[in-house]
Amino acid sequence: MTTPSFPIGSILGYPRIGRRRELKKAVESFWAGRITADELEATGAELRRATRERLVALGLGKTDSSIPEAFSFYDQVLDAAVTVGAVPARFATLVAADGTVDLAGYFTIARGEGSNTPAEMTKWFDSNYHYLVPEIGPETDLHFASDRLVCEVAEATTSGFRTRPVIVGPVTFLLLSKPSEGAPKGYQPLDRLDDLLAVYAELLAALTAVGAEWVQLDEPALVSESIEVPREKVLAAAKRAYDALGAATVRPQIFVSAPYGSLDDALPVLDSTPIEAIGLDLVRGSVPRGFRTGKTLVGGVIDGHNIWRGDLAAAYRILESLRALSPNVAVTSSTSLFHTPQDVADEPFLDDRLKSWLAFADQKVAQIATLAIGLADGAAAIQGELHAASAALVDRRIAPGVRDGDVRARAAALTEADFTRGDYAERLAAQDAALNLPFLPTTTIGSFPQTGDIRKARAANAKGEISESEYVDFLKAEITSVVELQEQIGIDVIVHGEPERNDMVQYFAEHLDGFAVTQNGWVQSYGSRCTRPSILWGDVAREAPITVEWSAYTQSLTQKPVKGMLTGPVTILAWSFVRDDQPMGETANQVALALRDEIEDLEQAGIGIIQVDEPALRELLPLKKADQAAYLEWSVRSFRLATSGVATKTQIHTHLCYSEFGVVIDAINNLDADVTSIEAARSKMEVVPDIQRSGFGRGIGPGVYDIHSPRVPSIEEVTDLIEIALGSIPNRQVWVNPDCGLKTRGYDETVASLTNIVAATRAVRERVRAR
Ligand code: GLN
Ligand code: ZN
Repeated sequence: MTTPSFPIGSILGYPRIGRRRELKKAVESFWAGRITADELEATGAELRRATRERLVALGLGKTDSSIPEAFSFYDQVLDAAVTVGAVPARFATLVAADGTVDLAGYFTIARGEGSNTPAEMTKWFDSNYHYLVPEIGPETDLHFASDRLVCEVAEATTSGFRTRPVIVGPVTFLLLSKPSEGAPKGYQPLDRLDDLLAVYAELLAALTAVGAEWVQLDEPALVSESIEVPREKVLAAAKRAYDALGAATVRPQIFVSAPYGSLDDALPVLDSTPIEAIGLDLVRGSVPRGFRTGKTLVGGVIDGHNIWRGDLAAAYRILESLRALSPNVAVTSSTSLFHTPQDVADEPFLDDRLKSWLAFADQKVAQIATLAIGLADGAAAIQGELHAASAALVDRRIAPGVRDGDVRARAAALTEADFTRGDYAERLAAQDAALNLPFLPTTTIGSFPQTGDIRKARAANAKGEISESEYVDFLKAEITSVVELQEQIGIDVIVHGEPERNDMVQYFAEHLDGFAVTQNGWVQSYGSRCTRPSILWGDVAREAPITVEWSAYTQSLTQKPVKGMLTGPVTILAWSFVRDDQPMGETANQVALALRDEIEDLEQAGIGIIQVDEPALRELLPLKKADQAAYLEWSVRSFRLATSGVATKTQIHTHLCYSEFGVVIDAINNLDADVTSIEAARSKMEVVPDIQRSGFGRGIGPGVYDIHSPRVPSIEEVTDLIEIALGSIPNRQVWVNPDCGLKTRGYDETVASLTNIVAATRAVRERVRAR
């Protein structure tokens, strides 16, 4: 019997949400009870069918296992968890007598129910996708519990396709898991590897039975150096896992893919196991010198994580170079394509010239099909395509707006002084005198509830149903009521509530040169949540003030200080598709200079406090330790460039959305903001000792209200949290604020929570005075 060879051209995964977000709409309709589980299943099946057919139309093979079977109703990590029976104990009632969990139960694990908190959500490697963290304890009953993936492969077979099932690999699955509640000290989910492998072996047998010739096991954890388990243990687990699965008697051929970076020392380990093919991310990573293998090397040379058409000829050369390392070379995407929107052709309003430089998922599939032809028939067979891609690159280099003389001259003239503010003690004294704030100043992070009315008015304005001046009046009325509310409640530093912003990044992208905004360029962020990142394609400049009118209007309504609100350069980059033709640091500085002008204008308009949000600072941190210092350097410098032009008496705030910031605490300190707000309520101020140990000496607002939950914190609860902060941090440094913006909350909870926060702050002020 001959074993099937790996498909010469394939992709690691494809967008699952649907061209017009059909899956999002169906899933949300199911949650709202408007459609049944069967109807939702039908939508899923239809999307899978459309995807398979589309991929064949774009040039992938119908029966050669090149099409990944990689659908998910919510998240691929949750899918793996449910497949192996890893349902957290608190959701035990969702498990039927036969050990399965139905679709409603699956969503309940993702979203929580009553007092049962949902599975924790966290970022998938260095992307903006969020997965659900599996909980694995010593008692978790790992067993082959869901044949959903098997059924999907069978469904493909029935309709004449042979697809390649995709599942998170066992090592990555356990490394991303956390111990379930009550697990003994020292226990790690990885301790359950052998039990999990037995389940995977069963799954592989079942996939074989429905006709799968290849299976793809995704092992991105093998490229990461940000995993807590020591590297030797990770490598030993990879060896054990793939020796065991490779030895399974009934199984498809095994393709282990490793997106998001180099495998490095994990590559020889995988090579020493009886698997058949290894996927390399050759966009981010490389192959260790001297490596040779008899296995199929699948070169991920088309970037799955950006939207640029890129250098196809260079990609082809990389593939050619793999031929010296292995007798069998194939081409694929560097990561799943689910980080990209589906099709450039769905963008009627994008400039044609810009479009010719782009490749969304469908264009990338076509590029891979081209490279596959090149691999099979030689470069001559694809000369036309290689030239066209090179010509687009040249065009991109010379097109107006890509390089702007003024922007470049300004960046080139920067000196160290542009990145530094004066001495902090002087700043503090000047700010105390100018702002006259009480001890324990209270504030919010910026946004107030985005009500249905606000969204309706925005949509009506976009459609031209209400005039610009009517819209502005509406927003001013909204701001007026938000200011009155804060005054009534007794908040010290006032915000305008951000009603004019659809999104904290897109709003700025829409007002800056060098950005384009898409119509249908949605990518999944988590579950049914999608974002529509802007495209940063050219040199960035600000034509006119963006936020000044709103902040100045707000200040005209109150005697209290108003805090101006901007999104920082790193976050603007992190949540956009960024040009790949120059270092990120250069692009960040251009954004920073535009923000610097905005900050100067805010200052001129009488705004004494300006917050520059950087919630994405941690997210962009490279997975490889060797790359982290350079990243922290440019990211911190761009923030400083944006904020260092202000007077000593102007107070700069920043906000970060997470609490595990141990790794970036020095960077946060180096931002040199006068006040930093962070998330802390959910973890009951767990970060405070870290802050104390780091010697952080400026203002800090550890959140006292978990805005991710509809719960209203009591006065006592908030009082306790403030007291914990005061226990470790010098009194004068402490600010009182929620964890994050209030845009997803309703007004009732917001008013009740802020009222309790102010009452708690007043109580603590009294107590401290009495001490
Ligand atoms: N200023 C923003 C808001 O309040 C910050 C949001 C964020 O950090 N993600 O909504
Ligand atoms: Zn936040």
